[in-house]
Amino acid sequence: MARFDSPQAILTGGGSRREAPEILSALGAHRTLLVVDPFFSTADFVLEIRSALDRKGIPNDVFSDLQPDPTDQNVIAGTERFRGFGADSVLAIGGGSALDVAKMIAAASTNIGPLRQFQGYHRIPNAGPPLVAMPTTAGTGSEATKVAVITDTERSVKMMILDAKLMPSAAIVDYELTMSMSKPLTAHVGVDALTHGIEAYVSRKANPLTDPVALSCITKIHANLRTAWADPGHARAREAMSVAALQGGLAFTNSSVCLVHGMSRPLGLLFTLPHGLSNSVLLPAVTRFSWPGSKARYADVARAIGIASVKASNESACEALSDWLDELNADLHVPRLRECCGGDVEKFRATLPKMAADALESGSPQNNPIVPAANQIMELFEIAW
Ligand code: NAD
Repeated sequence: MARFDSPQAILTGGGSRREAPEILSALGAHRTLLVVDPFFSTADFVLEIRSALDRKGIPNDVFSDLQPDPTDQNVIAGTERFRGFGADSVLAIGGGSALDVAKMIAAASTNIGPLRQFQGYHRIPNAGPPLVAMPTTAGTGSEATKVAVITDTERSVKMMILDAKLMPSAAIVDYELTMSMSKPLTAHVGVDALTHGIEAYVSRKANPLTDPVALSCITKIHANLRTAWADPGHARAREAMSVAALQGGLAFTNSSVCLVHGMSRPLGLLFTLPHGLSNSVLLPAVTRFSWPGSKARYADVARAIGIASVKASNESACEALSDWLDELNADLHVPRLRECCGGDVEKFRATLPKMAADALESGSPQNNPIVPAANQIMELFEIAW
């Protein structure tokens, strides 16, 4: 059996952000909390949306007190604001961090107890209020996923919370909001989206509904990420990347992520690396390790992006894919892991047993074509170093 969950409505295209007030109104919003990435808290377009909500008779307030790779404290503060304001709906604007905080504010507003009780799969008892998600990075796809990633500050764990109740009611994907991204941010979130596409396709949970979406995500990124990085004002490349990121989210939330994500969460937490970067540095090494477990699927990916012919053997197609991922990282100036982690190899090695254990604990490596043992995960970290 295959099942495909998605927001009730998905809008794409330049200027689609202007539809947010109408969409909220149609969802029955009477008082809306905007959860806005600090980068955009005073942006003109946010003020315009607020004025349009006012004109519709929907009072609104803004919460922006959140950080990249957000924490339970951000959610607690936002939930207090949601309750204090008497909101009945949420408009989330920002990268994956703002979107995830918004999702958990909505969930916390209708459920009692500490956030950690929701960690894992399908553990949120009550649905939250309507939530409209508007991404400003072309990376996580959180606007169309059943996932939120929040750090539990007491246990120092990046919690993966997966529940159909976290799927936004609507997603508005307006690429114009991504044009302000710096080159490094464009690179890291772009390779993050690529990781979603590849992992969704090779996952043990891949299915006929997610496969075409995952491949479409990957081919768009192959055709557009370098251009979006080299020419930040390139509207068509930015638009394609925004749609690809959306597709990556739709694909992995209905299939799964795998080993890259399992390893990336403890790495990002221990060395304070942004999520996109921690995925980017791991993707080539993990792909080389994993393809022997699913040669035909990885070869499909290589052929879909035109770097291997139909006649090429699966093995050579998989090698071509691994090489391309290395080249892509080099072209986008993605650093090596040692450059991100301070260069102290002994300190790094001391963290490996815990990172490997946390990766396995997350459940994501179990979806990988080859399910690694802890010592193999430690070796992969060393290879990425
Ligand atoms: P982010 O939201 O953490 O943002 C990174 C930085 O970019 C922030 O400083 C932010 O202010 C800034 N920023 C955002 N949009 C910008 C723009 N248009 N121009 C300039 N700066 C901008 O980055 P992200 O990669 O989108 O999200 C990462 C988070 O999402 C992590 O916590 C990760 O674990 C989580 N995540 C969630 C899902 C999901 O399905 N919910 C999937 C993957 C990752």
